[in-house]
Amino acid sequence: MNEIGHFIGGRKVPGTSGRFADVFNPATGEVESRVALASPAELDQAVAAATEAQADWAAQNPQRRARVMMRFVALLNEHMDELAQMLSREHGKTVEDSKGDIQRGLEVVEFAVGVPHLQKGEFSEGAGPGIDMYSMRQPLGVGAGITPFNFPAMIPMWMFAPAIATGNAFILKPSERDPSVPIRLAELIMEAGLPAGVLNVVNGDKEAVDAILSHPGIAGVSFVGSTPIASHVYATAAQHGKRVQAFGGAKNHMVVMPDADMDKAADALIGAGYGSAGERCMAVSVAVPVGEATADRLVDALTPRIESLQIGPYTAENVDFGPVVTQASLDKIRGLVERGIAQGADLVVDGRNFRMQGYENGFFMGACLFDRVKADMDIYTQEIFGPVLSVVRAGTYEEALGLANDHEYGNGVAIFTRDGDAARDFAARVQVGMVGVNVPIPTPLAYHSFGGWKRSVFGDLNQHGPDSIKFWTRTKTVTARWPSGIKDGAEFSMPVYHQG
Ligand code: NAD
Repeated sequence: MNEIGHFIGGRKVPGTSGRFADVFNPATGEVESRVALASPAELDQAVAAATEAQADWAAQNPQRRARVMMRFVALLNEHMDELAQMLSREHGKTVEDSKGDIQRGLEVVEFAVGVPHLQKGEFSEGAGPGIDMYSMRQPLGVGAGITPFNFPAMIPMWMFAPAIATGNAFILKPSERDPSVPIRLAELIMEAGLPAGVLNVVNGDKEAVDAILSHPGIAGVSFVGSTPIASHVYATAAQHGKRVQAFGGAKNHMVVMPDADMDKAADALIGAGYGSAGERCMAVSVAVPVGEATADRLVDALTPRIESLQIGPYTAENVDFGPVVTQASLDKIRGLVERGIAQGADLVVDGRNFRMQGYENGFFMGACLFDRVKADMDIYTQEIFGPVLSVVRAGTYEEALGLANDHEYGNGVAIFTRDGDAARDFAARVQVGMVGVNVPIPTPLAYHSFGGWKRSVFGDLNQHGPDSIKFWTRTKTVTARWPSGIKDGAEFSMPVYHQG
């Protein structure tokens, strides 16, 4: 059986802990490889390799670091098909969707090519008599990233591209569900000229994560995954004195106003709700039509579209979405659908009994649509992370806004309307980090920053864009005075350069 180890010090190394996890092909339900789960000792090796490589890497001038990123972009484009096939095989999403996953990561690498400009400090000439003051943005040292299964190319690149470009060395702990692409990314960036040890990939589970959170050699931690783990990562890493950002789960609402173009709104909901089998942190899982007539029109527009969705393995043509990632995930989704029925929601489209001919052991789930969902039902309060869309009928615009604002999560949200006033008011007042106006998945591009609000995030700075440069660097401010500006004698009072 294919065995996936780690990538430490510039080469692939086998796992030595003796612990492994199965990696499935979700379309067939079969185990295709097993991935090594690192012990704290293996993490130590990666930290040692990263520490050794970091100072020299940081000392390279920023154009040289940028050129590695440039060559990496070229290699990602060259290997796009290979990476997408590899990704779909372990994740289950369609090959086109995998290419989108890689492309969105690649764009963060393109953003990181701008590091000579992005990392520039500031300078104040004549801040006092004979005094100049300047600030520098220096790398933290060794950073670590812990990533979820759903974007095994994009999210690692969200983290390691800006971290490495700014002069850090990096340890990536990818999801144990789809570990092949992250290792391949490490090989490709080495081919692009990255020195050995600057990017390391350590596969593993909770044991590796907990070792990262307390490791004295790691200065910064970035996490993306579910909210309970994000909150644990945030608290533990902070307790150990690390800079930390941790991104969690979501329940993204899409408000449909009575004046919206109903066909466009329904198409948007279908793509955003069921694309990637709903396994996106920016998936729309709640539709909020305003008014009964809007709700009836929306459900009428959604139902035939959902019934004609094409589900299948990534190897088939014209597939809208594939299986979910694991049997455990499938069981959880089915369980929540049962809860929805038991708690009184109307299951308008029932995908529970979908079976894929020839792939009976695959983790396939048909699309489900619930209507008349209430705010206290489990299918509304919990993240389902599957192909299940809930319609919550709101009487008024204020009620719709209140639903998004009162939800525990605040990752993404959208409003569909032709009314500029309503859209503007919504964008201003909604308590959510990323807002779409007639855009169902408002995932910011690489040169803006990505992040939610409320319990979708723990920490201050967001992913990629300007925030990522701040997160992966720390500011040092130098106040300099040369002998001609120094007065004789000791100064005992607080230095004040200009009074009055
Ligand atoms: P997960 O929380 O199960 O796993 C994420 C990472 O944490 C993995 O690397 C995993 O190995 C590790 N991990 C799992 N259990 C752990 C534990 N007990 N202690 C320490 N580490 C642990 O998430 P997932 O199922 O891989 O991904 C789906 C989740 O990620 C969803 O909740 C989704 O909303 C969220 N997500 C959020 C964003 C965002 O930007 N906010 C983006 C993508 C995914």
